[in-house]
Amino acid sequence: MERQKKTRNWIKPYEIVGVLGLLLLLTLFSTMMVIDQGEAKAPKDTHSEKQSAINTEAIEENGKRDENESSISDENEKQRVEVTKKENQSDQTLTENEDKSETVSPNKEENTQIENNGDLNDQGILNEKTLYITFDDGPNENTKSILNLLNKYNAKATFFMLEPNMRKFPEAVTAMVENGHAVGLHGVSHNQEVIYESSQSVVGEMTKAQRTLENIAGIHSDLIRVPYGSVPHMKPSYFDAVDQKGFKLWDWNIDSEDWKFHHGEFVQKVLNQLEEFPYQHEPKVVLLHEKSTSLQYLDSLLQKLTDMGYQMQALTEQMDTVTF
Ligand SMILES: [Zn+2]
Repeated sequence: MERQKKTRNWIKPYEIVGVLGLLLLLTLFSTMMVIDQGEAKAPKDTHSEKQSAINTEAIEENGKRDENESSISDENEKQRVEVTKKENQSDQTLTENEDKSETVSPNKEENTQIENNGDLNDQGILNEKTLYITFDDGPNENTKSILNLLNKYNAKATFFMLEPNMRKFPEAVTAMVENGHAVGLHGVSHNQEVIYESSQSVVGEMTKAQRTLENIAGIHSDLIRVPYGSVPHMKPSYFDAVDQKGFKLWDWNIDSEDWKFHHGEFVQKVLNQLEEFPYQHEPKVVLLHEKSTSLQYLDSLLQKLTDMGYQMQALTEQMDTVTF
């Protein structure tokens, strides 16, 4: 009885109202917490913090996955575009170069130059039609005739001369200078074992030739060509040594091989190499020698080059050198 009475007392109406009020407050409170979680703030409740952190991570994970998926789909799209392009290119070979230069920017410059080169060849614009012919191993008894032929075609050339030959043919040296050709140095011995003995033997031979040229023609030249070309004889330390002395070392990029062929084959060799000249950023430098057999076909070479619109000019000390 007493217990029933107590129970009956506990559930009096005003107490029910109180309990309901408490429940309402709890409901409100928990609703607020849910909102807090949703906004990932909940700074007071550590559990909510963790939960919100997990939620954030999950969102980021999904984001990454979305990114990957989108990049994969981008890749697929690119591949599809490329395949389509290739198909189009093989179908329309005429527009192939144009497509490439428009779509592949790193190659744009190169493609443009190749295109320009084609235009230049057709129109004969000076830059692409400038040729630097060079004669090694002189001067000698052929020099005068070589100079006459060069004058005939209004051509300028560069002569890399051996010191003993300069002393033997001093008038040939002064004639070169008077006719506006460039004069350079080819050393003294023209013997691999002697000149390439050390970096100082290379510098020594070039310096001796330089002094002789100054004495004969009053010209100071830093232009040099080492015998047989820089490869494989010139070691890095040799290059450093000639650089330090201010010499400008020239190799060549068109080899006539006139030392090897004695019946004018070198003329066609030069023309062939000009036709397929691969060095877009280099001046065209032709190697010739002051040999009788070269002189014999020099007229033919100069005539053909002139007909093709080439202008023969002399190397200068300001130019960037061509080396192997
Ligand atoms: Zn030589």
